Amino acid sequence: MAVSISDYQPQDQQIWEEELQDFIPSRVFDAHIHMLLPEHLAAANRPPAAANTLAHADLPALQQWAQRLYPGRETHFLVLGWPSMGIDVTAHNAWCIEQLGQDPQSRMNRLVTPSCRPEDIERDVRERGFIGLKPYRIFSVTGDINQCRIHEFLPHAQLELANQLGLWVTMHLSRFHGCADELNLKDLHEFTTRRYPKIKWILAHCARSFTYWPIRQGVDRLRDMPNIWYDVSAVTDVRPMLTLFSREDHRRILYGSDGLDATYFHGQYVAMGRAWQALDMKTSQLKFPHCDGRPILCIYEQLLSMKQAAEIAGWSRDKVEDIFWRNAVRAFGVSFGQGATTAKAH
Ligand SMILES: [Zn+2]
Repeated sequence: MAVSISDYQPQDQQIWEEELQDFIPSRVFDAHIHMLLPEHLAAANRPPAAANTLAHADLPALQQWAQRLYPGRETHFLVLGWPSMGIDVTAHNAWCIEQLGQDPQSRMNRLVTPSCRPEDIERDVRERGFIGLKPYRIFSVTGDINQCRIHEFLPHAQLELANQLGLWVTMHLSRFHGCADELNLKDLHEFTTRRYPKIKWILAHCARSFTYWPIRQGVDRLRDMPNIWYDVSAVTDVRPMLTLFSREDHRRILYGSDGLDATYFHGQYVAMGRAWQALDMKTSQLKFPHCDGRPILCIYEQLLSMKQAAEIAGWSRDKVEDIFWRNAVRAFGVSFGQGATTAKAH
């Protein structure tokens, strides 16, 4: 089933009132969120009309969700293309960027697959205002979606273009160990320091560290690389968050939610040793004999972990404001407090 605002429950409201409303600033820039018009999916992936499995997510839907999750906050977005096999890449990108015409303070990374032509990407950046790229491992030319290296799903021709244009790249690292993987670390070091020094990387999901382990292995080396940022989207375990908050420069960390479908459900991403898995209570058989068994939204689990990591790391209120919006203002040239805005290309 698609996520739905009407699934917001009293226990979510309680967490908001008792834990989160004093933590979330009045301004929020969500640097990892997706839009989707399901008809752009391949026929094989398209939800049947009677039982939608993915939300119809246009810009008004994103804003409605934001007002439900963090009421009264001024919210803008870095929208990432929807990485699904067989999606109509051209139609999807065109629809998303047109939607964003309604909000001059939001931005978008273009969905790219290895078969996208650099000249088409360049035209989209120059004429339509995409600021970066959203590649994904499932498009790897090797066919191995789990153990592929960066250049196997973001080819060198596209990396060269991104370097020339100084683009952002939101990178969900592949390979079993994510940011602890020696080849990933070697590639990122080579790309950031020598081969593509103008690309600005956002390593999604705490550098794909859903468990305590990869970021503990990788953070000291990542910290020394230029042009690296992180988004904290979908990480609900407090341990990787704490490692990132206490051992990285907080100015390189961006808030992101990974909404709608990946985090606006009741459940979380559960770490089991060095493995992890999504746990959606709608499909789980878990029982709760010893407690009030009412799970909260995954995005609230993430925000709780952020709050507790910030507390344990001894962060000032200023640092919290930075990761929720000021770092994004610096990174993407957006501004808050503009009031009602007129649509324009960006
Ligand atoms: Zn995502």
